[in-house]
Amino acid sequence: MGSYAVKKIGVIERYQEFLPVTEKTPIISLNEGNTPLILAEALPCELGLKDVRIYYKFEGLNPTGSFKDRGMTMAISKALEEKATAVICASTGNTSASAAAFAARSGLKCYVLIPEGKIAKGKLMQAYRYGAKVIMIRGNFDQALKLVREIGEEGSVTIVNSINPFRIQGQKTAAFEIIDDLGDAPEYHVIPVGNAGNITSYWLGYQEYKKAGKSKVLPKMLGFQAAGAAPIVHGHPVEKPETIATAIRIGNPASWKSAEAARDESGGLIEAVTDEEIGRAYRFIAERDGVFAEPASAAAVAGFIKLAKRNYFKPKTKIVITLTGSGLKDPDYALSFDDPIESVEPELEAVKEIMEK
Ligand SMILES: *Cc1c(COP(=O)(O)O)cnc(C)c1O
Repeated sequence: MGSYAVKKIGVIERYQEFLPVTEKTPIISLNEGNTPLILAEALPCELGLKDVRIYYKFEGLNPTGSFKDRGMTMAISKALEEKATAVICASTGNTSASAAAFAARSGLKCYVLIPEGKIAKGKLMQAYRYGAKVIMIRGNFDQALKLVREIGEEGSVTIVNSINPFRIQGQKTAAFEIIDDLGDAPEYHVIPVGNAGNITSYWLGYQEYKKAGKSKVLPKMLGFQAAGAAPIVHGHPVEKPETIATAIRIGNPASWKSAEAARDESGGLIEAVTDEEIGRAYRFIAERDGVFAEPASAAAVAGFIKLAKRNYFKPKTKIVITLTGSGLKDPDYALSFDDPIESVEPELEAVKEIMEK
């Protein structure tokens, strides 16, 4: 053994005093959290925004590639503390990847219900390889979650969807990190909204940190749903949600009310963006700012662009956009655009011809 000091840097160890844990809680961590705030450069430039600072909170750098790890370290640790033997979740993909990883580490059995054919390949692969029992449902996420609730009610398996309150608690640590890094909260926080747990978590985190004297500002919470899956925007559930951003393909969000509260209490908004706008934002941040996030994350960027074009943002302010998951999760979408990769004979002229195109 060398002299490498094992540093405890998971979100529970970092933010214990703000979380419902005790010395008795067995902490299951993969060193989640502590993700970077990456300064956006091309984005403000493209939009002619000179006097705002925009940061990407890049949650794709968590151990399983999405923000879900922040809540899952809490949910699994608490499940273990409460002597559970198995956990279950419905998932559009990232929850199952995260649940499977933390369950693997804890020794808990893990069941995941996912909508057949509607989950990104990387996420399916993760749940499967971390050893969860993957069950495909011939239906959508909302139907899968209903089944999970029914199984949870029977009492022997712990639900680790965001209806599990410990998930929200863990996820609020992202707001703490932003304040720790910036010295205060930003004026605006832009975030995609699916089941609406994350917008709820951030708002909780921002409020708690302010109450603790760690910040002075509370941001306006600006949430974005996909146009084909925008129940909160329309004010009623969407029976057949459709969007290429599968992580937010949800028609009846579990945290609907608390998302509205975050919106209204912060003086923010929740609006919709089209798949086309999502696709353009997705490509822009990768091709111009060098940050590869998944389509659901790009919904927040698309929303930001829309608001910026309306001159929504006040000058001399800070804006944080949460990029919720890694672009590596969804290879099929990444390769679905009509800018083909060309192949040629192994000849100099042929290669040069393509280089000059
Ligand atoms: C889960 C998820 C979302 C949606 O978050 P909610 O808490 O369900 O609103 C957005 N993007 C990604 C990548 C996700 O995994």
